[in-house]
Amino acid sequence: MDSLQETTAMDETLDPPDWADVQALSHRIIDDAVGYLRDVRDRPVWREMPAEVRRFFNAPMPREPAPIADVYGDVARNVMAYPMGNIHPRFWSWYMGCSNFTGALGDFLAAIQGSNLGGGNHAAGLMDSQVVDWCKEMVGFPASASGTLVSGGSMANIIGLTVARNAKAGVDVRERGVGAIPRPLRFYASDQVHSCHRKAMEALGLGNRALQRVSTDSDLRIDVDALRTAIAEDRAAGFKPACIIGTAGTVNTGAIDDLRALAALAAEEDLWFHVDGCIGALIAIAPENRSLVAGIEQAHSIALDPHKWMHAPFEAGCALVRDASAHRNTFAVTPEYLESTPRGLASGQWLHDYGLQTSRGFRALKIWMALREHGVEKFGRLIDQNIAQARHLTGLIKAEPALELTAPTTINIVCFRHRLDGASGERLKAFNTEIMLRLQEQGIATLSDTTVHGRHCLRAAITNHRTRRDDLDLLLRETLRIGKEIAAGNPPV
Ligand SMILES: *Cc1c(COP(=O)(O)O)cnc(C)c1O
Repeated sequence: MDSLQETTAMDETLDPPDWADVQALSHRIIDDAVGYLRDVRDRPVWREMPAEVRRFFNAPMPREPAPIADVYGDVARNVMAYPMGNIHPRFWSWYMGCSNFTGALGDFLAAIQGSNLGGGNHAAGLMDSQVVDWCKEMVGFPASASGTLVSGGSMANIIGLTVARNAKAGVDVRERGVGAIPRPLRFYASDQVHSCHRKAMEALGLGNRALQRVSTDSDLRIDVDALRTAIAEDRAAGFKPACIIGTAGTVNTGAIDDLRALAALAAEEDLWFHVDGCIGALIAIAPENRSLVAGIEQAHSIALDPHKWMHAPFEAGCALVRDASAHRNTFAVTPEYLESTPRGLASGQWLHDYGLQTSRGFRALKIWMALREHGVEKFGRLIDQNIAQARHLTGLIKAEPALELTAPTTINIVCFRHRLDGASGERLKAFNTEIMLRLQEQGIATLSDTTVHGRHCLRAAITNHRTRRDDLDLLLRETLRIGKEIAAGNPPV
């Protein structure tokens, strides 16, 4: 008996020596977290890290233990105090969501429960499938379709394009590889297509040139006639047209391709129709704007991104495939150590059969909890709200002679620039870039910039459930103030 206890005492664990201690600290962390989000509006959107904070991250690998309270203190001081800023009501850079408290609790509980969503017979697996089912319903996909939660939109697109490649290759690509494809495959997208598709083409072994960029009209939508011509020319030249990628919400301007026309053309030409809906697929749940994405339900596969317009904490993307067996046939492998059993833990679905990961996190919980709390209709209204806010900002810009809109506003992305007495090209770009940087450095707001059809512009992407209209009024006033300040040659404050 004695010797048994001795052995037990020597077995180490990561569990705390005193649970009451971690309980007290956990309460403090939760209190701090609530305050952190409650007061986010009072803090600058972003600030530069001082040298001592940068130095903190050069500390060597820890060898000795430290009290967990000290560890948390380090995180609070050096990490929590210098966020990217996308949880702030005036963050409008690039395109991302701004998280939510319930989702954060979901992430915490997912880690506490600790399940591996590679598959198996347990509640987390059922919830993962349920969230995928809900995503299908949101975009109007049939219940027979399949899907998988992935890290984000880039992975969701890779999943869809991989199924497209295998379905259209004409040979068993899984067994023989892309070298055995008799006629080189061609994929088509607009010249506004997101860069992740290039990475996908490269990773799929098809190469960047296999992705044909088709020109866009003045609304930045794919030119369907030019697409039809490109397909015919490729066929004549011995290529095998395989897939049309439609974009529902381009990253530059939020343009939405004519999805119905693309679906019809894909059917006519016997091509796979994939929709990159990372930005816009969820508009399908927004009552006032859902007609903008009509036709998305006709796709063979869709990529969507709950960590954007549903504000799930990173990471959460979703790939949906209409033909469930084409999806499974692209990825399923059953090694001897992952065989199913008739009962018990291994009798559930093997979710890893629908993607590239084996171990998978419990991403579904953070999405499920926020959806259950608010209901899908509220998420739809928040999407409508952001689109209305973007129209408000667009109106302000149009009414202000010092500013000009540089692309039409379709959804929640506004592209504009500040004029500078007759300046153009590099000088105008430098002026607008300086405005953008001062807005960031003064902690007022964050925008990003881009170049659309050769014109550089500032860009506000309002994917933010905390933004109010007066935040946009403030953006306009501060842009004009900083514009004057720079034009007058004044140094930054
Ligand atoms: C954001 C985005 C992606 C990539 O999604 P991630 O979640 O960042 O990986 C792909 N396509 C479009 C149109 C996007 O806006």
